[in-house]
Amino acid sequence: MPTRPLPPRGVPESDLFRQMEAARAHDVRWREGRVFSLVFYAGEDVHRVAEKAYARFFSENALNPTAFPSLRKFESEVVAMVAGLLGGDAHVVGNMTSGGTESLLMSMFTAREWARANRPQIQTPEVVLPATAHPAFDKAAHYFGMKLVRTPVREDFRADVEAMARAITRNTIMLVGSAPSYPQGVVDPIADIAALAQSRGLLCHVDACVGGMMLPFVERLGYPIPAWDFRMPGVTSISVDLHKYGYAAKGASVILYRNKALRRYQLFATTDWSGGIYASPTMAGTRPGGVIAAAWAVMNYLGEEGYLRIAKAVMETRDAIMAGVNAIPGLKILSEPDISVMAIGSDGLDVYRVADEMSVRGWQLDRQQFPPSLHMTLHYGHVGVVNDFLQDLQASVAAERRPTPRRLLYALLMGLIRILTAVLPERWLSRLTQGASRFLGGGSGLPQRSAPMYGIMGTLPNRGDLKELVLNLVEGFTEPPED
Ligand SMILES: *Cc1c(COP(=O)(O)O)cnc(C)c1O
Repeated sequence: MPTRPLPPRGVPESDLFRQMEAARAHDVRWREGRVFSLVFYAGEDVHRVAEKAYARFFSENALNPTAFPSLRKFESEVVAMVAGLLGGDAHVVGNMTSGGTESLLMSMFTAREWARANRPQIQTPEVVLPATAHPAFDKAAHYFGMKLVRTPVREDFRADVEAMARAITRNTIMLVGSAPSYPQGVVDPIADIAALAQSRGLLCHVDACVGGMMLPFVERLGYPIPAWDFRMPGVTSISVDLHKYGYAAKGASVILYRNKALRRYQLFATTDWSGGIYASPTMAGTRPGGVIAAAWAVMNYLGEEGYLRIAKAVMETRDAIMAGVNAIPGLKILSEPDISVMAIGSDGLDVYRVADEMSVRGWQLDRQQFPPSLHMTLHYGHVGVVNDFLQDLQASVAAERRPTPRRLLYALLMGLIRILTAVLPERWLSRLTQGASRFLGGGSGLPQRSAPMYGIMGTLPNRGDLKELVLNLVEGFTEPPED
């Protein structure tokens, strides 16, 4: 990557912000409800409260809570409010982290340290979790030298607890369930997973990153929600993101533990450094005060009444979208989601091409695999877009069905690839994959029409090649976009 000098003289403020506004011209339009992940929007007033609180504590640092009793108050109250929502008692403790990934890293690290103390005979600790659990667990296993044992899910996409029981070995230290899982939005049978963990003397983590600030309110609204939180005696830790349905600023999550004794394994301290005694509860060193202040402000601003009102509107939007999608011939919601997270699948249509047609119409849907499906996370920003969305979805399905030259070419390409992958030697395929990564926009990002890429990825026999291709893309993202 070519290096770049600092501007020799500082850029004037007005110029600067003009440049920044220009830079975001092609960003996704989340305020208009055109995106179904990445951003959770609860309206301008909530946004303003978060922004103001964030700005006010923008310089403060929670690394040393004795310097900022304010942040200590905010963080401990945020953690206590979340624990209260999730059926915790006075023994439940926790910390704020930078996001779901850090919360899951902490749950895995804590389990590993717990096992080192309590199961010293185990060399490589194993964690059993359903196929649908979030990849941050893979990241944690990768970072901390642990082994994940993923088990298939049932037909309704919920964890198969019998399969989990069969996967337990002498090296197993923890079972995991999601509330709900990200891909299909269904809550795993946590009561059974927790009971199984308890009967085998294992830890049990519930990943409620996406659902933890939604499920308690959805349950209060009368939707049937299976019990999943600290009310289940076997549950030992829970992760909850505040920057999702908590509507806090980005970089806010909570990791909770059943009691102090377990959380102790998460904490870090060194007493030998020439810079003094250094201790910290989570992965981060410096911890931004703005994030903590914004989470506290939004939770207090909304209160129970505010979260209930928002959850009601979001769930009604979900019900309308589900009914609308299921009414379009060829499409169906894959599961019976417990919250406003779900996947659109199809029997006869190529959903990746439907997604491309939606992109052309300004809607960004994430592509999923096993089975091919389109992911939707609905939030308050989607309340007013149901009709527009369903109309464009119908039009996209119609376009997918229409025989066009592009469609013909695509079918030919897919056919060719299937033949090639069947007859070419492995080594050639690797070369081809590398070539494809350049052809598919290796340096600068994903093209607007990505169905061919997902089609190719789906047919590649060697997942290792695919991983290299993806890592090439990740490398490319550290370079600026082309236009
Ligand atoms: C979002 C999510 C995570 C990871 O959270 P980040 O904030 O993106 O790091 C983990 N688990 C589930 C179920 C999620 O939806």
